Amino acid sequence: MIVDNGRSRLLARPEFREALACIRCGACLNTCPVYRRSGGHSYGAVIPGPIGSVLEPARDPATHVELPHACTLCGSCSEVCPVKIPLHRQLLAFRSVLAEAGLHPRRRRLAFDLAAALFVRPRLYRFTTALGRQLARELPTRLVEMLAGPWTRQRALPPIPSESFRAQWRRARTTGKE
Ligand code: SF4
Repeated sequence: MIVDNGRSRLLARPEFREALACIRCGACLNTCPVYRRSGGHSYGAVIPGPIGSVLEPARDPATHVELPHACTLCGSCSEVCPVKIPLHRQLLAFRSVLAEAGLHPRRRRLAFDLAAALFVRPRLYRFTTALGRQLARELPTRLVEMLAGPWTRQRALPPIPSESFRAQWRRARTTGKE
């Protein structure tokens, strides 16, 4: 039995073909700012990181539609890849392929719409983020972790600061201390 795992799909499209040359060295994972912050488990895939975000949607597009959209397109992965796979270009191209197939990152869209609505309402933004910080510090940890969703399935939440970044930054500028 031959396990294809979406490789024929990659082979059929010239813009993705080079991904099949991957030697699984892991260099693209270690340099990726998204992988370094989120960790391998957050990808929900067998192969994480930039190369996983190309291979996994090729294998199962509906399940892994979010992965190419998580990329910042910084290009660091393509720089370090020893076999010169243009990963960030492939991740960008994959977004179009998925969109053409009617697959969209709905959770990300919802989060962006919510953020956009808050960013244009500074008072509401300050109120919501202050409330969120307070609740996150006072509610039982177990409940906060449940609300934080998949993020806390594999890791602990970092300590919630008592004041916003803006307040810390303003204080540092006033006192001259970073
Ligand atoms: S750096 Fe290149 S060869 Fe190494 S794991 Fe990533 S894609 Fe594969």
